[in-house]
Amino acid sequence: MTTYADDQATVAGMSELAFEAAEARTAHNYHPLHVVVSHAEGAWMTDVDGRRYLDLLAGYSALNFGHGHPALLAAAHAQLDHLTLTSRAFVHDQFAGFCAALGDLCGKELVLPMNTGAEAVETAIKVTRKWGYDVKGVPSDRAEIIVASGNFHGRTTTIVGFSDDPDARGGFGPFTPGFIQVPYGDLAALEGAITPHTVAVLIEPIQGEGGVVIPPDGYLRGVRELCTARDVLFAADEIQAGLGRTGTTFACDHEGVVPDLYILGKALGGGIVPVSAVVADRDVLGVLKPGQHGSTFGGNPLACAVGHTVVDMLATGEFQARAAELGVVLRRRLEAMVGHGVVGIRTRGLWAGVDIDPAVGTGRQVCEALMERGVLAKDTHGSTIRLAPPLVVSEEDLLWGLDQLAAVVGD
Ligand SMILES: *Cc1c(COP(=O)(O)O)cnc(C)c1O
Repeated sequence: MTTYADDQATVAGMSELAFEAAEARTAHNYHPLHVVVSHAEGAWMTDVDGRRYLDLLAGYSALNFGHGHPALLAAAHAQLDHLTLTSRAFVHDQFAGFCAALGDLCGKELVLPMNTGAEAVETAIKVTRKWGYDVKGVPSDRAEIIVASGNFHGRTTTIVGFSDDPDARGGFGPFTPGFIQVPYGDLAALEGAITPHTVAVLIEPIQGEGGVVIPPDGYLRGVRELCTARDVLFAADEIQAGLGRTGTTFACDHEGVVPDLYILGKALGGGIVPVSAVVADRDVLGVLKPGQHGSTFGGNPLACAVGHTVVDMLATGEFQARAAELGVVLRRRLEAMVGHGVVGIRTRGLWAGVDIDPAVGTGRQVCEALMERGVLAKDTHGSTIRLAPPLVVSEEDLLWGLDQLAAVVGD
């Protein structure tokens, strides 16, 4: 595979020293594993000591195409030499192509590019509220947006305000009003929460941060039908679930459902730059007029060049097919672990939530043991490990990584 400096490996503990240096000068809003990565290719990362690790997190799906995908690097390198930033005060030559390609991928008319996922969610909140007032006729400042329990939509003050995770929201109030939470997967509760002031239902088609929680069959179809019947917009946060991860372009595709707004991010930036977007038809995104929303970096030339390449790669369907194919391998191997240190699994495409038997240890302890064996993964909510390998991982490497998990949790 990749050549790495063997002599580096003899400088014992470089990773640990670099880790301590990093921790010493940053706010402790993360609890990273004790590894300091210096380069990566495909599904593999290498630390400053030259040790190699299989990446089973893929930047929470921001690295769906793996590290350093040649087509994405080429697009970024080429764009760097031409033009990197204009602001939206001027139009640049990469903008139209990106918006048209992404709109076509989504089957929608308009694209509003932003940078981070949270910004795209905020954008969707503003757009659906504005639509509520201008189009639906909701009285001023009375708009309601229905969200789900266990949600994760980002880290801004408004967004954490409608989270039910005490870590995410505790100590950060007061919060933005206008959000109503209902249990995820419960259509009756959703129906009961809709009022004449409801402008949108904002949900993740699969809850990634929640532990790859898949709603009951028919839920997304039911959400679509309710929204249509009650004149409410369906905003699907596909930031982590979308763009190939589940074996289809969007997680909503599994139920043949088309939301009114796609909220995209993570993999849209090809693992190179932050690129997010809200994608919808003119009757929705058309409510915004100049001056009502914006972003200095949103839709910049570098982002558009990389994002356009991501969309072109997805347009062939090959990454979705690979996620579906490897997803079968992933599910089979995980099924064999149930009862052997694993108490439950949920998978869709190349994406899994693995519930570890508490008798084995915490999710964190399992991730630390995996790191010792050359595998990097991340726990969520105490005892769950989320697996989201790059879609370019080889079957052989994937099975090797899963063997390491079986060895760590098994008896
Ligand atoms: C990661 C994520 C976000 C937030 O994206 P950032 O780029 O971290 O702001 C929002 N929604 C979902 C479903 C996510 O997984």
